Amino acid sequence: MVDMATIVSLCKQRGFIFQGSEIYGGIGSAWDYGPLGVELKNNLKKLWWKSMTSRLDIVGLDSAILMHPRVWEASGHVEGFQDPLVDCKSCKHRFKADQVSGKKCPDCGGDLTDLRMFNLMFKTHVGPVEDSASLVYLRPETAQGIYVNFENVYTSMRKKVPFGIAQIGKAFRNEITPGNFIFRTREFEQMEMQYFVKPSEADKWFDKWKEIRFNWYKDEIGLGESRLRFHQHDAKELAHYAKVAFDIQYEFPIGWQEIEGIHHRSDYDLRRHQEYSNKSLEYFDEATKEKFIPYVIETSEGCDRTMLAIMIDAYHEEEVKGETRVVLRLNKSLAPIKIAVLPLSKKDDLIAVCKKVVESLQHRYVVEFNISGSIGKRYRRQDEIGTPYCVTVDFESLSDQKATVRDRDSMKQDRVELSQLKNYFLERF
Ligand code: ATP
Repeated sequence: MVDMATIVSLCKQRGFIFQGSEIYGGIGSAWDYGPLGVELKNNLKKLWWKSMTSRLDIVGLDSAILMHPRVWEASGHVEGFQDPLVDCKSCKHRFKADQVSGKKCPDCGGDLTDLRMFNLMFKTHVGPVEDSASLVYLRPETAQGIYVNFENVYTSMRKKVPFGIAQIGKAFRNEITPGNFIFRTREFEQMEMQYFVKPSEADKWFDKWKEIRFNWYKDEIGLGESRLRFHQHDAKELAHYAKVAFDIQYEFPIGWQEIEGIHHRSDYDLRRHQEYSNKSLEYFDEATKEKFIPYVIETSEGCDRTMLAIMIDAYHEEEVKGETRVVLRLNKSLAPIKIAVLPLSKKDDLIAVCKKVVESLQHRYVVEFNISGSIGKRYRRQDEIGTPYCVTVDFESLSDQKATVRDRDSMKQDRVELSQLKNYFLERF
């Protein structure tokens, strides 16, 4: 398996991901998505959004990051979203208590402070006065924006249980030990869906969503099945709101780790918001004339963590004619650049043909036009960024009105009429 350093370096060299604020020496655990990274990430988000909201029983939402501070009291985060931490008295390094065994610092052997609880929520203030009345938190999960809008959504959209609300957005956690590139950061994006069900049907829907979500990684994202598995939370791991929880894990270079949590949250959140807001969040079932607080099945995917899994899974090195070829075998729907158009030489008449090809394709696909370096080098660059097809215009193209299309994975080349290129790609994307 590829190591993390290789992925970090490729991401920087090829414009996927840069260290945040790099010219100032960087800021711990913040990363910026470059031109190719943002295309890939947007493609991932679009795929997820479509997989959720194209269902008749799911609608979307985009709620605010800043929420009423009472939300986080009701949700249990003020009280319960904490990690135990210890500091080293000598080197000042900070650890989650469960990462150290014994009473000595794992880095320098120094003495450790007593264990303290540390709340992971970022605090800030609204308005000019920094008093306790102006305190707000940056949301540590997008889910609460969905719960507090439950009634707005189901009445305005005339939704009937079972139905779900999907949301993509930033979340913030003041992690004690961020690291491993974009695996654990303090600012990250989540793609969450909360599915509201009758209590008696919660177990059935939990099993259904487990299956749907596992298949999403396997079939839609194209991650290797042998590197995917479920992990069930034991009593110690369960979050304060969860009744049952399964993680979908991916085998990263750092071992098996969670990329998505699937949680049976019972009626915990809606019941707590009803209690704290004094607003009824009961649902009335017209068919059975029953009133109840729906149970929630949550699917919670980390967008950045999935990005890392995608890069690792796609990365391949292979021997071609005695040389090492690096190729990102990205799923075509995720690839940041779909087609590269390459003139064999910098001659004006070849460039003119290329420009026409670009114009005919760019309204439908993200196309790159590249004239610098040998054709071999340009193929290598496109392989490394996962471009599924390269179209090469050569001197013969001027007479036969055809171009060579090279397939990233098989490296097979087809000679295709310029007028047929559009159809050729329609069949392949
Ligand atoms: P972990 O145990 O790794 O801290 P978690 O169980 O706290 O994760 P959840 O609260 O279930 O995570 O969040 C859902 C998803 O959000 C995770 O599966 C992960 O993909 C993503 N996620 C959570 N915390 C971070 C983080 N600090 N950086 C990047 N992604 C994160």
